[in-house]
Amino acid sequence: AQLDTLDLLVLVALLLGSVAYFTKGTYWAVPKDPYASAGAGLNGAATGGKTRDIVEKLNETGKNCVIFYGSQTGTAEDYASRLAKEGSQRFGLKTLVADIEDYDYDTLDKFPEDKIAFFVLATYGEGEPTDNAVDFYQFITGDDVAFESGGGADDQPLSSLKFVAFGLGNNTYEHYNAMVRHIDAALTKLGATRIGTAGEGDDGAGTMEEDFLAWKEPMWAALSESMDLQEREAIYEPVFSIIEDDEKTSEDEGVYLGEPTAAHREGRAKGPFSAHNPYIAPIVESRELFAVKDRNCLHMEISLAGSNLSYQTGDHVAVWPTNAGAEVDRFLQVFGLEDKRHSVINIKGIDVTAKVSIPTPTTYDAAVRYYMEACAPVSRQFVATLAAFAPDEQTKAEIVRLGSDKDYFHEKISGQRFNIAQALQSITSKTFTAVPFSLLIEGLNKLQPRYYSISSSSLVQKDKISITAVVESVRLPGATHMVKGVTTNYLFALKQKQNGDPSPDPHGLTYQITGPRNNYDGIHVPVHIRHSNFKLPSDPSKPIIMVGPGTGVAPFRGFIQERAALAAKGEKVGTTVLFFGCRKSDEDFLYNAEFQTYQEQLGDSLKIITAFSRESSEKVYVQHRLKENASLVSDLLKQKANFYVCGDAANMAREVNTVLGHIIAEQRGMPAEKGEEMVKHMRSSGSYQEDVW
Ligand code: FAD
Repeated sequence: AQLDTLDLLVLVALLLGSVAYFTKGTYWAVPKDPYASAGAGLNGAATGGKTRDIVEKLNETGKNCVIFYGSQTGTAEDYASRLAKEGSQRFGLKTLVADIEDYDYDTLDKFPEDKIAFFVLATYGEGEPTDNAVDFYQFITGDDVAFESGGGADDQPLSSLKFVAFGLGNNTYEHYNAMVRHIDAALTKLGATRIGTAGEGDDGAGTMEEDFLAWKEPMWAALSESMDLQEREAIYEPVFSIIEDDEKTSEDEGVYLGEPTAAHREGRAKGPFSAHNPYIAPIVESRELFAVKDRNCLHMEISLAGSNLSYQTGDHVAVWPTNAGAEVDRFLQVFGLEDKRHSVINIKGIDVTAKVSIPTPTTYDAAVRYYMEACAPVSRQFVATLAAFAPDEQTKAEIVRLGSDKDYFHEKISGQRFNIAQALQSITSKTFTAVPFSLLIEGLNKLQPRYYSISSSSLVQKDKISITAVVESVRLPGATHMVKGVTTNYLFALKQKQNGDPSPDPHGLTYQITGPRNNYDGIHVPVHIRHSNFKLPSDPSKPIIMVGPGTGVAPFRGFIQERAALAAKGEKVGTTVLFFGCRKSDEDFLYNAEFQTYQEQLGDSLKIITAFSRESSEKVYVQHRLKENASLVSDLLKQKANFYVCGDAANMAREVNTVLGHIIAEQRGMPAEKGEEMVKHMRSSGSYQEDVW
């Protein structure tokens, strides 16, 4: 009977869950051109002429190939640009890169047979479309897909559409590459013809780049045959013209020195603050959470007061980082730009459809420091494109070898976790002065904000969010350099500065802490808020089970803070269980002292169950503790507990999922598959929620 009740609950919640899912697009942040207000004619070109009809757009611009991207963190967008460039340089295609949300989809049935559409689509979170692909996904997979000429799903309205598809996914998530799979199936069902296989890149296995490279060669062969394309020797053609402006200096008002938008540059930034218009927020407090020397975890309190920004417990905050000075210097030195780092440059797309992602005019220094992902892992294809601009024949030969030999590249470059400048420095001490700056803009992503799970409760501190971030600093065995995370080391430097630490540049990274035109002075950081579906039950008397080892505890600190406050107000608060894990109780037990206070406030209803992996001979993790507490977990689930997991997506979250399936099956005497099934149901109904990365 218990099972029946649970099944029923699952069904009801499933229905509510789908409603929530399909309305999400209406309040998700919708990316727009961040520099639109710059008046510099930057990205206006992206939708030049402003038509949303892709067929019209291709005709207007004389293109025969559109490469749509659905991107969350910029990788899919980067792959789209790379395909566009390769298509144009190797095969003479006239390519257009398109943000999928910049177009309508009801004219796809008029897509000309002699043209080609690429779909480069990332899958986000639980098999979801990226924010910019939500509308497309809903349209093309919907039951009542209606095209302009009136075709329905029964006939084959897309029979003239030829397409190429590549997906970016992560096999550690359950719905691996769901987006590209669903879109491929939906387009095919509507009569479209796919050229080549639908590629799938796997971030989980760390093979995204190699999967992409392996997929694209047979795809180009199939496409050449289908469109009768002739391959030619690829000659580099810059996408952007970079013109140095000797008349201007970096002091001039109109020059972007790292500001995210024109309004920020002009000192008149105002709300609404969003993913395109960050708020320069004061960090009001920052402190270290770990009690060990060699590892750091930051707690930061960031004020939203007066910004009109609001958040709900469980939301995310995005932090807009700055590259480390030492890496900016290295980059400029390697490409021979050191002496003219403060020269003013104008960046323009040579083709009207080229999208300039860097605000212009700017300087080389600001471009690298604030706008380019200069420290990221290096792509083999990108390194290969530098061969033509190598300082000497020997270096060129080495780069050609690196570009064509996957294993050698891994041994020398990616396995060392070099960024591009470190990679080139490892090959030669000569500078690469011949590399066009356009190629660097094309080859590197734009610098992305990083997300953090807000670790405070909006009920307790409405105008102040906190984050809990572990500083990414890894020395690989045998490697000479440390691999440093961009954002967390920047935040660490801000914390050092705020606390008047005698070594404000703990790792010699020399951040420009006061920001462009000193506008971040007094310890400010650009942020925006991203609303999430990771939420406490609206009824606080419902029990909750939280699994959050390491920084995975972040949102749960907010959850517990909130439930303690509700209890203090006299509300009935249900059982609150936290499974927390770390290495040692006296080293990295985050918020230990604070949790003791909550324990006093919540009494027996708060249970904190810990797993310290390095305190016994056998490593103990949260999933082991979960298993040991199977009957508690099962009882709470029967009482309609919500189950939450936060933190490491690669291993922990997956294992917790499996263990929970076992617990349900065992405790209820069901076959294992049924347990798994129940967890699936819990997921789709919203009673099993994940916030993983
Ligand atoms: P990055 O520079 O982005 O580097 C990321 C990783 O790549 C590092 O491990 C680094 O060692 C490695 N790397 C860097 N450069 C190279 C290279 N050249 N070659 C190879 N490898 C390299 N984190 C938290 O600490 N707390 C949270 O609450 C939290 N919440 C999150 C919520 C969401 C929804 C998401 C998506 C992520 C969350 N994260 C959280 C992770 C966070 O967004 C960042 O990814 C993390 O802080 C690292 O950022 P970074 O800029 O310091 O590192």
